[in-house]
Amino acid sequence: MKVFKFGGMSIKDAEAIKNVNHILSLYDKEKIVSVISAIGKTTNQLEMIVETFYANKAEKFNLFHDIKTAHLQIVAGLFTAEDVDVNKDINATLNALEDYLHKEASENYDFEYDQIVSYGEILSSKIVYHYLKKQYIPVVWIDARKLIITDNNYREANINWEKTEKKIQKTITHHFKTNRLIITQGFIGGTLEGISTTLGREGSDFSAAIFAHAMDAESVSIWKDVEGLLNADPKKFSHTVKLDKIPYREAIELAYYGANVIHPKTLKPLQNKKIPLFVKSFMQPEEEGSIIHDFKNQKNIPCFIKKTRQILLSISPKDFSFIAEENLSTIFAIFAFFGFKINLMQNSAISFSVCVDYRNNLAQLIEELQTEFFVKYNENVELLTVRHYTEDSLNGLTDNKKIILEQRNRTTLQVVLK
Ligand code: ASP
Ligand code: MG
Repeated sequence: MKVFKFGGMSIKDAEAIKNVNHILSLYDKEKIVSVISAIGKTTNQLEMIVETFYANKAEKFNLFHDIKTAHLQIVAGLFTAEDVDVNKDINATLNALEDYLHKEASENYDFEYDQIVSYGEILSSKIVYHYLKKQYIPVVWIDARKLIITDNNYREANINWEKTEKKIQKTITHHFKTNRLIITQGFIGGTLEGISTTLGREGSDFSAAIFAHAMDAESVSIWKDVEGLLNADPKKFSHTVKLDKIPYREAIELAYYGANVIHPKTLKPLQNKKIPLFVKSFMQPEEEGSIIHDFKNQKNIPCFIKKTRQILLSISPKDFSFIAEENLSTIFAIFAFFGFKINLMQNSAISFSVCVDYRNNLAQLIEELQTEFFVKYNENVELLTVRHYTEDSLNGLTDNKKIILEQRNRTTLQVVLK
């Protein structure tokens, strides 16, 4: 069996969903689990609903109305009034969300987030399921919240692998006896008590990897709006090339440095079972795309990753002590506590520099560091990473900005620009 993941752009409207049917028709001899994301930008809209719901603003119903209209419009583009099942199913799901919004929010923001935001994937997967069923494909819809078992760390739930693998194996094997296709949701899971959770933004890739790992799938394919994995983000760089064959290790490095390739948690479950990951274009499904697998000795193409809205902090002990094990562990604990991810670090005898993504609790982080350290910082700097750099890699890339920190090892060059 194979696992497919269809992201928000690949199902953004009625035409796109028809194209999903076309893609699946190219694999009509295969058993496939399809993991579906929320339609287009629905997750962002649902996040706004959560904010207004939590603040108890009436605006929540306007936002809900927008989501409702967009989904019903897609339903109208794919079905007629005679398709009673889909109309009933989607209306019931929308009504359940609306009812939820009438309730009072609990104290726990992250809990409310997961209860509301998970509707995006429930709605999209139901629409896709009903559309495929209408094409007489033997297909079943499965609720991922009953298979992907997590703890209650809402918004970033951790997988209970043992329970999840058992549930997936049992349920999927059972349904493949009479169906060729299984439609389920990305991004969402559930606790053992049956409460909805989410796995972190862009988590649908990870869901696909979880299903593939549990089922020992032949491969995973992620259907995207680009031709495959590129050596740089085309929105930020003018010349990009497609990477054809990428070793798992290289893909993990790229994800680590912030390339917007695939959700960083996706690769481990696949690598552990040597399951290949295909990244393919939903507009040109016959094209090869990119393959991430257990490749050795690939030609190293330079890859460029630009991260904006970075903060560069220099930290030095007030008592003039060395930056060594003890100071470092205090510093790391503070960064971890406030949820900052360190993108680059460099130290000298009495100073430690780190580059982190901006977060709105930056002031609290600095305040805490200042109890023991002097802290200097630069806001709004840019971090440029070049994998497999050459001597002229930076030509034309620094946009006349000043390099305020530089670090290189054998494979990777990083500069902080201001
Ligand atoms: N719909 C979720 C998001 O937009 C999950 C995903 O698309 O992977 O983050
Ligand atoms: Mg997505």
